[in-house]
Amino acid sequence: MKCPFCSTFNTRVIDSRLNQTGEITRRRRECLHCGGRLTTYERIEEQMPAVIKKDGRREDFNSRKILDGIQKACQKREVTIAQMEQIVQDLERKIQAMGLKEIPSRALGQVVMKALHRLDKVAYIRFASVYRDFRDVEDFVAELRGSQGELLVLEEEDDATENLKFPFIEDSAPEAPKRL
Ligand SMILES: [Zn+2]
Repeated sequence: MKCPFCSTFNTRVIDSRLNQTGEITRRRRECLHCGGRLTTYERIEEQMPAVIKKDGRREDFNSRKILDGIQKACQKREVTIAQMEQIVQDLERKIQAMGLKEIPSRALGQVVMKALHRLDKVAYIRFASVYRDFRDVEDFVAELRGSQGELLVLEEEDDATENLKFPFIEDSAPEAPKRL
């Protein structure tokens, strides 16, 4: 570690202790060149992978952005903030467990879609319609059909749906939707 006083790299640790919660190690160091004293704090970096967008650019994983997208899809629906936050938490845990360095944005979208599908079909459709980037009406109707081919009924017309933008997915449209 570079000494801030004399800019040489000869420091030694003279004291090392954990903070109360055990997450941060505080170290006192001494410069062997000039005798200067410094303190460093060491903590484990949270292991969230970078998100690969559709255009190939990488960006930091941003749980706030994901929550915003979910909130927009859940506007005027009976989904609580706690349920939305739970989706994001589950997502974080899931991708941390994968231990990846990078993850495509579409994989994140799929996890959110699955969770919304269980909670609220309208929110799911809103999220999916932006995320899946439906090419035509047929694709959209295909998505509306349940696993048994039944048509899932939308309970209300909502003009706002068409103009919804999900910041975390808007430029990360995935491959063409599958035909059912
Ligand atoms: Zn020094």
